[in-house]
Amino acid sequence: MAGKVRTRYAPSPTGFMHVGNLRTALYEYLIAKSQDGTFVLRIEDTDQERYVEGAVDVIYNTLRTAGLKHDEGPDIGGEYGPYVQSERKDMYRPFAEKLIEEGKAYRCFCSKERLEALRETKEYAQGGYDRHCRDLPSEEINKLLAEGVPYVIRQKMPIDGETTFTDAVYGEITAPNSELQDQILIKTDGYPTYNFANVIDDHTMGITHVVRGCEYLSSTPKYNLLYDSFGWEIPTYVHLPLIMGKDADDKISKLSKRHGSTGFEDLIKEGYLPEAIINYIALLGWCPKDNQEIFTLKELEKAFSIDGISKSPAVFDYNKLEWFNGEYIKAMTTEQFEKIAKPYILQAIGDKPLDTLKLASILQQRTTKLTQIPETIGFFAQLPEYTKDMFVNKKSKTNLENSPVMLKAVYSELSGLDDWSHDALHDLLINLAVKLGVKNGTVMWPARIALSGKTVTPGGAIEILDILGKEESLARLENGLKMFGE
Ligand code: GLU
Repeated sequence: MAGKVRTRYAPSPTGFMHVGNLRTALYEYLIAKSQDGTFVLRIEDTDQERYVEGAVDVIYNTLRTAGLKHDEGPDIGGEYGPYVQSERKDMYRPFAEKLIEEGKAYRCFCSKERLEALRETKEYAQGGYDRHCRDLPSEEINKLLAEGVPYVIRQKMPIDGETTFTDAVYGEITAPNSELQDQILIKTDGYPTYNFANVIDDHTMGITHVVRGCEYLSSTPKYNLLYDSFGWEIPTYVHLPLIMGKDADDKISKLSKRHGSTGFEDLIKEGYLPEAIINYIALLGWCPKDNQEIFTLKELEKAFSIDGISKSPAVFDYNKLEWFNGEYIKAMTTEQFEKIAKPYILQAIGDKPLDTLKLASILQQRTTKLTQIPETIGFFAQLPEYTKDMFVNKKSKTNLENSPVMLKAVYSELSGLDDWSHDALHDLLINLAVKLGVKNGTVMWPARIALSGKTVTPGGAIEILDILGKEESLARLENGLKMFGE
């Protein structure tokens, strides 16, 4: 359909989805969805040396987990297939040959040795090509072809003048043509280079918006010269700012492993929720019109617009991601949270028969990363060693004298309790404080220390009693009393 927005996510299967790649995918998806467009997945696997087994599955899994559903792609097909570059291999050469016929490209027969020798010279030490084969006489070309000398096809770049284009984020960009190399379009093995394939693919797939990292900005004039050579319409370019990380000295540098996890799967393993990652990444380089921070994917699909994308580098802040994660966790029902927390809860309690829904409910409000869970509730599985001084707490008005008195009273009241429910436990402890004429905390604090061996716990004495059950609770209180020689 003419005029319809079509974006594409074109990952190379490297086996790893960096958050930068995921952000590109997300923005492509959002640009398409916000304009009722089509989001295409294309696998760019022509760089056979970089091929990694199972890497395509990483791409599918990530997109699925992140909720970025493509409308066309290798697995679901579409009108513009095939969607895997290696399956399109035969499509590219005729385009390159057309350029040769029109004098816009040429065959280069230079041997590896010659190119290596060129690198040895000062002028080409940094790379580049001296255009040796650019104007070979046709008899020589025919002779070399007849001899079967391998060749590449290179683009004939203009030698002077300049190329200007407009990027939707970075504005107008001009590059002198003298800086553009006669780049290779088709390699000796017959495969296209990325630089050639992306132009042919984007055009033949009807892509209207090309979204990618700003590291591609400097290559864009080359792509545009190709579009112009074919007389094709140049797509809208949306280059995205770099993602940086904060170094120990507060300076920033390109986000890398030393800043923390940079892969989507690694972040999930660390206990972040896909929804929180997507929400956070959406804001890494894009600013909504109001100050809203929490967005579901559906809301992003409505709110996203290209003019909100910033060109200044975005800093990946792990604390902020954790805050988002905590907000997503808090917004769940306890049942939903129990479902995702369960593997982590079981990691801590093993086969001990504790109520995981109750554990989830005391964890939910204080969990910002799922991986915090095992450590936080480890005391339910086994009472850790603790020291007597932990019973002393100013705020609860407890000390080494009144703590054993409280423990004894709690123990004796609880031994007679048959209805071991949250409400009954609550009433019993509150009434006990009234009876003893002390603050609630004076009763609760020593009980909690004896029950958990910790000064900081999810839930208080009542919740811990409820989850541990009568037998285990009494044993732990008894153990506390023993510390006082009682
Ligand atoms: N295959 C390229 C990459 O993974 C895609 C770049 C582009 O979006 O054009 O970096």
